[in-house]
Amino acid sequence: MIKHTDVLIIGGGVSGLASAWWLAQKGIRSTILEQSDRTGGLIDTTQQDGYVTDHAASMVLNFNTQVTQFISRSGLQDYRVNRNKISRRYVLKNNQLKQVPENIRGILYSDLFSLKTRLKLMSEPFRSHSMTDHETVAEFIRRRLGQEILDLAIDPYVSAVLACDPEKACARSTLPRLTSLERNFGSFTAGIIAKKLLPGKKGLPQEAFSFSGGMKTLTQTLSQNPLTDIHNGQKVLAVEPTKSGWRVTSKADNQEYQYLTKQLIFSTPANIAAALLQPVKSKLAELLNKIEYAPIAQIHMGFDKSGLNKSLDGNGFLIPSRENMDLRGSLWMSNLVKHRAPENKLLTSNFVGGGCQMDALKKSDAVLIDQTLSSLQKLTGIRQSPEMVRINRHQQGLPLYHGKYSDLTKAIQHRAHQSNGLHFVANYLHGISIRDRIIQAKSVSDQVYSTLRQHSHQSTTTVSINVQRVTP
Ligand SMILES: Cc1cc2nc3c(=O)[nH]c(=O)nc-3n(C[C@H](O)[C@H](O)[C@H](O)COP(=O)(O)OP(=O)(O)OC[C@H]3O[C@@H](n4cnc5c(N)ncnc54)[C@H](O)[C@@H]3O)c2cc1C
Repeated sequence: MIKHTDVLIIGGGVSGLASAWWLAQKGIRSTILEQSDRTGGLIDTTQQDGYVTDHAASMVLNFNTQVTQFISRSGLQDYRVNRNKISRRYVLKNNQLKQVPENIRGILYSDLFSLKTRLKLMSEPFRSHSMTDHETVAEFIRRRLGQEILDLAIDPYVSAVLACDPEKACARSTLPRLTSLERNFGSFTAGIIAKKLLPGKKGLPQEAFSFSGGMKTLTQTLSQNPLTDIHNGQKVLAVEPTKSGWRVTSKADNQEYQYLTKQLIFSTPANIAAALLQPVKSKLAELLNKIEYAPIAQIHMGFDKSGLNKSLDGNGFLIPSRENMDLRGSLWMSNLVKHRAPENKLLTSNFVGGGCQMDALKKSDAVLIDQTLSSLQKLTGIRQSPEMVRINRHQQGLPLYHGKYSDLTKAIQHRAHQSNGLHFVANYLHGISIRDRIIQAKSVSDQVYSTLRQHSHQSTTTVSINVQRVTP
């Protein structure tokens, strides 16, 4: 049987679910085909023995009003749990954890950085801006702020949080806000001041939050959208363009299904989109196949606080790649968000892998756990064994924004625009974070809406779209 739908989305992770939610706000019904028997993709949460552990994303970092609107109108506001106001975080320098200053003034007075670096920071507004198209993160930061800021501030963020290698990562794609400050205002300092002073430039103050029950609550809530037909357990096998859109073939329980859709959104990893588009859009598939992914493992460990010889009182720490350790960083989740661990217990979520350690996941669980525990013991003084250990492996954790990444993504989008009704909402375009996923989903759903509206005006035979507003 052939089913008809205005919009079909392949992939029920947060990118696909957010796209469907924004479409529903405009009264557009959509269909999501998700191969797994649950929605959420990378995002999931396990609750066991009072510990709440996220499999991938654990926090939303937001400064965008569209995201705020999304959270409040989707019903997620009721579940929102703000990050605790602990600001202490640490970075490893010469085998010792050092507190990271919270702001520019803190950096100027901190002994984390040498006098030379602090002077270089103060002269940042006077440095000429000469960014080349393919400057790497390391080149960009060295040029503007110096090696020490790269090593101790930017490298740990880029290599541990974004999973990229700063020496290979494209500055424009990896640090879009910083590079645009230089491009638009000549320096970071001038850009930050202008954003504070100029009317209409000031964004929201940065906020960080999770949800009660963990990040799974986000994707579960979005899955309840009444204008979205979600088909779990349906793996898409083939797509092909038709005169008025796309034909999509999927399979579930040994049965094949066919869909005809006007608008097709890919919300899968790039290599999956490439394999499906190869027979019909080989040039586009070739570009998508160039996107590589970093392997990442998250190793959660729960400890009884009474046995800790010193209190671990901050948010956690990051490790610069020059320290040459297997561990990339450790978030102390029970300090960051309430109800993540039972009373008097500490939940640490530790990361290994990323673009600087592409072989990290070749090790067995036992080896990863052993090496993580010994790093934690060495750096924090924890002596005891954890009472809870859980490991989440992601062989394709995050896309690597390496090489001429901004050219690659422009080329992908250019080819997609040339293909009737074809869109990509996925974390290899416009940012990996949940905030970026929500913002990109909004932008693509606006395009889909206006195309469908144009079509419904032009054609008298097409099914008109339902324009009633829905608040799921
Ligand atoms: C360890 C880790 C920690 C992170 N921490 C944070 C954080 O704290 N904050 C933050 O903002 N972000 C974080 N992120 C990033 C964020 O979690 C991801 O970028 C985001 O979840 C990706 O969502 P997505 O929907 O684009 O892709 P995915 O979640 O990968 O979803 C793709 C979906 O497509 C489906 N699919 C694939 N092939 C097919 C097919 N043929 N047919 C049908 N369906 C198919 C898959 O089953 C999957 O459900 C983290 C990521 C990782 C790995």
